Amino acid sequence: MVKRTKIVATLGLVSDTKETLRAMIENGMNVARLNFSHGDHEWHGKAIKTIRELSAEMNVPIGILGDLKGPRIRTMVEAPIEIKTGEFILISDVVKAPNFQFPISNFQTISNEQISNDKKLTLDAGNIVDDIEVGHEILIEDGLMKLVVREKDGGVMLGEVIDGGTIKNRKGVNVPDSQLKISAVTEKDEQDLKFLMENEVDFIGLSFVGSGSDVEYLRGKMKEFLGREDNLPQIIVKIERKEAIKNLDDIINKTDAVMVARGDLGVEIEGTRVAVLQKEIVKKSLQHMKPVIVATQMLDSMIVNPRPTRAEISDVTNAVVDHADAVMLSGESAGGKYPVESVRTMRDIIQHTEASPFDDVTHLMKLDIDDDFKNLVKGAFDLAKNSASTAIVLASVSGFTARMMSHFRSEKPLFVATNNEKTYHQLALVWGAQPFFTQEKELSKVLEEMIAYRKSTGELKDGDKVIAIFGSANDNKEKMQLVGVKTI
Ligand code: ATP
Ligand code: MG
Ligand code: MG
Repeated sequence: MVKRTKIVATLGLVSDTKETLRAMIENGMNVARLNFSHGDHEWHGKAIKTIRELSAEMNVPIGILGDLKGPRIRTMVEAPIEIKTGEFILISDVVKAPNFQFPISNFQTISNEQISNDKKLTLDAGNIVDDIEVGHEILIEDGLMKLVVREKDGGVMLGEVIDGGTIKNRKGVNVPDSQLKISAVTEKDEQDLKFLMENEVDFIGLSFVGSGSDVEYLRGKMKEFLGREDNLPQIIVKIERKEAIKNLDDIINKTDAVMVARGDLGVEIEGTRVAVLQKEIVKKSLQHMKPVIVATQMLDSMIVNPRPTRAEISDVTNAVVDHADAVMLSGESAGGKYPVESVRTMRDIIQHTEASPFDDVTHLMKLDIDDDFKNLVKGAFDLAKNSASTAIVLASVSGFTARMMSHFRSEKPLFVATNNEKTYHQLALVWGAQPFFTQEKELSKVLEEMIAYRKSTGELKDGDKVIAIFGSANDNKEKMQLVGVKTI
């Protein structure tokens, strides 16, 4: 049985050869993620080329996700600083660091003598001190260390150490309470985005998104760099900040797809809340018909071991039961010892779960739209469910009709034909969609070509009944042309 839940795999130095990538595709990788926090354009360009070659050779759609680094804040210290609970430390940013001049004037909490001249931390991000207020938390290295800002003066903050440790250089910093004015698309991101647009990738990952306007800003930049208004790569927002949870509805409305980025999310929000939040984010994404990926640490122990822990198996199973469109591998496929085995293991877990009744939709999820088009697609789904049909077949230009049909999580195969190459690869992320590409312009012929192809592979046979739909136009305005039972 074909698996319905898709696999996104991050590529890295252990997975950049053609042989390894071929094996990953054979074992169920649907989308390749390139993390622009690592590697140069030469490396990423080569990976894109290899994936495109394999996709054509193997005749399988593979989505390419260019994941922007985003405004990740990092520590800058000359030498490691040891901080103990109850102590105070001076904090500034790259712009205001020159203000680290002693004596610091007006702090009320403690006198200058109580501040050590060695305990100065610079945050590597523009004028970020302006966005951090008294009372806000500053978390360092995956939340291992915690400071609370007690006072601010002349661009320097006085932080009280709540959880101590040793601050090393270039470690990640989270400021969950602060509303950041620094752009979600940095200068580096713009350069990477230009490169990604030139390479016509299928998805762009927006890291540390805070609001719906971040999404609109990125889409504007994409249009500017591409010099066109439509057929854009889809935006995948990474939900990993507390701010994003506050603005979740607005962000999901404006994006094309969603990633539950559990790594930073578990730092900004208590880690013990992440599993419940995952369910909320997945549900909301489904209601808005936005493909959703569950990411981070899914098979983490497979970075070093050939087999996952029972808890990890359970985690993947639960994401499938939650009806996520896709589950993701990070370090397991990008830097671990077992990249191919990780993909295979994930596929096996998905297949066992999908074969069970536990992932079946017992009640249809509520869609946030209510129009005739939805009713038609829903009608076609009902027809497929209640008839002796073999499959649902549809033609789709923008992929909208396919995503809407996918929403109903049909037990019967969903064969999607398109003459838009970007849609073909983008549907690689969509639950259950099995895309087919042809250059043919006429939509009815597009559908016929696909049916002939599926017959040649044995997925369909003469005399089968299928439920056929086809749409046209693009974006969210595909017009229904036909729904019907068709004997092929
Ligand atoms: P994020 O940017 O989402 O916080 P990360 O830095 O933790 O992610 P992943 O994308 O999860 O990294 O990849 C896991 C590890 O794989 C990275 O820490 C890095 O060591 C390695 N890696 C990923 N991409 C590359 C690459 N293009 N080149 C070399 N190593 C890579
Ligand atoms: Mg991350
Ligand atoms: Mg099932």
